[in-house]
Amino acid sequence: MIRNYHIYTYNGVTVLLNVDMMSATLVTDDEISVLSEHRGRIAPKNKAGYDVLTHLGLLKSNIDSKVYVEEKDDFTATHVALFLTQQCNLNCSYCIGGPGGEYGAKSRMTQSTAQKSIDWVIKNSTNEKTIGISFFGGEPLLNFDVLKFVISYCKSQGSIHHKTFEFHITTNGTICNEDVLNTIRANDISISISFDGPESVQNNFRPFKNGSGSYDIVIKNIALFKKHTNSLVGHAVLSLDIDPTSVYDEMKGAGFRRISMTPVSASMFSTSNTHESSQQNRNIFKFIEDEAQKWVAYAANKERTFLAELKDSSRLYTPLSLLHQNIRRSDTCGAGKHIAAISSNGDIYLCHRFVGINHYKVGNINTDNVFPVDFDPTPVNRVDGCNSCFAKHYCAGGCAYENFVSHGTVYKPNHSYCKIRMRELELAGYVYANFNHEDIDFLTSVGVLPAVPCYMDF
Ligand code: SF4
Ligand code: SF4
Repeated sequence: MIRNYHIYTYNGVTVLLNVDMMSATLVTDDEISVLSEHRGRIAPKNKAGYDVLTHLGLLKSNIDSKVYVEEKDDFTATHVALFLTQQCNLNCSYCIGGPGGEYGAKSRMTQSTAQKSIDWVIKNSTNEKTIGISFFGGEPLLNFDVLKFVISYCKSQGSIHHKTFEFHITTNGTICNEDVLNTIRANDISISISFDGPESVQNNFRPFKNGSGSYDIVIKNIALFKKHTNSLVGHAVLSLDIDPTSVYDEMKGAGFRRISMTPVSASMFSTSNTHESSQQNRNIFKFIEDEAQKWVAYAANKERTFLAELKDSSRLYTPLSLLHQNIRRSDTCGAGKHIAAISSNGDIYLCHRFVGINHYKVGNINTDNVFPVDFDPTPVNRVDGCNSCFAKHYCAGGCAYENFVSHGTVYKPNHSYCKIRMRELELAGYVYANFNHEDIDFLTSVGVLPAVPCYMDF
């Protein structure tokens, strides 16, 4: 049998993406003509065909069933978002929680609900020794007393149940004082700050409730947070017509070493702004094409510092490391398998973005288990078109929330996001295929690429 593959040309070279093996290689014109002779065949038609298909890793063998697939069966809580508040002091234009970040309920988590939530998390973490708790909202620092209570309760329960907790805060960066900073430092809390970059963009899209801009205070606080945590990530939402490079540059200048940028949610892509969303995709394509060239050049020149920076912020890093390790992802994110979100009133949802959407409420802290409703955590075979998509082992069906807000079902992909995922994988394939053995040895030795796992371990 011949494996699935995808061939494309970029920057003067032709790349073959081996879909079934999650690998990428450059191909010659001779190899391309042999491949075209074998289109639609299930076996090599002659010795030349056999040799080319073998060389390109396109003949199926018993290794196909052994390639590492990330999988977990029953739900195990390893990462849980706690909604300390469903209120916010900002009034961002595109908040996924709706106006004021309320997620349909203007509520605040009580200490009693927080305690029961942690009890539920511990109970549902089965044998996992390390649990991630992410303080979320609304703006979680508006409920700082309960945040501190959760940390101290986790520590006391962790020693009883032999669990370690890692804490994370997702904040808008407007609230910062000595108590907050001391708590962050004392508990080694990682921080994500939502910050949209250039002053006019931040002030326009992320104003305070009274309409005043938030840029000045957030810029000041980023510098303070940076001094008190080892892990500070800047997360920008790219509004429709913004140039990602200007956002990236502003975030670097603000002091973020790790940067993530996400296009504004599909819920904003109404029919009337299809043109803008296409323009946005073009902006993102241009940005990641530049990233691809940097990966190739920095690896060739052994630019260790620049490569470490790329690892921390490049959209191509994840597909690159999957291609490097030949990992076929079976889920996008772990929703329904090991991540969940608990709302301020104790309801449990598939993930933080589903909070307030009743259909995807999967339980309550007072019940023993989660009950996934109409949700397949490994959806590639159920989402329209994914099974025949060359990016299926990278994207794995897309973000269920984006699918849901685009089409009212988690099983129909958002095509704007599909285009981005596919392009990311193509460019990562181009980069990886251009690495030679020396590049890969260097990237592995300096920790930019992970070591390849041993097949005998599976
Ligand atoms: S890119 Fe789109 S079609 Fe392909 S796997 Fe992802 S969601 Fe499915
Ligand atoms: S469903 Fe989407 S928003 Fe939710 S955790 Fe997964 S990728 Fe993130």
